[in-house]
Amino acid sequence: MDVTGYHLSARYAKTLRLVGRVADQAATLVQQRMRERMPATSIQVVDGKRYLQALVEGQQAVLSTSRLPNRRSDPSVYGATTLSPTGVLILINAKACADPTNLVETVVHELVHSVQYGRPGNRENAIKGLRNNYGIEPMSWRGAWKINRIHDRDELEAQALEVLAREIR
Ligand SMILES: [Zn+2]
Repeated sequence: MDVTGYHLSARYAKTLRLVGRVADQAATLVQQRMRERMPATSIQVVDGKRYLQALVEGQQAVLSTSRLPNRRSDPSVYGATTLSPTGVLILINAKACADPTNLVETVVHELVHSVQYGRPGNRENAIKGLRNNYGIEPMSWRGAWKINRIHDRDELEAQALEVLAREIR
């Protein structure tokens, strides 16, 4: 798996190395447990203060837009999983994940979201959600409600599988 630092300062070199070391192992474990395949996924480790910039840049690339989102994401989260033009992009917030146990759990959690994006219809729904958030094409209340329901269910699934992190050496 492609693991890179997003304008990452040297103080997070250890974080980047650890993510690089566990990413493939975590991806294998997650796919085996879920019995589903993961779309092409890359991971960017990002400094806390550049987290929002990395997220917006990634999403702008998917939408081919230079617009900004209507809704601002929470910059203090451990990580996020979003689409990339060809698959999935995972962002790991190096500052929020200072603790190694936390870091590996976050990698597992976000990889579960990556698998979820590969399920039928989910990429299309995610693009609809992004187009709504970037003011390109508004979504119906009904559509937004449905996406929120799926999101809540996906979140619970990702949390439940964080225990897989304990199997990673
Ligand atoms: Zn999540």
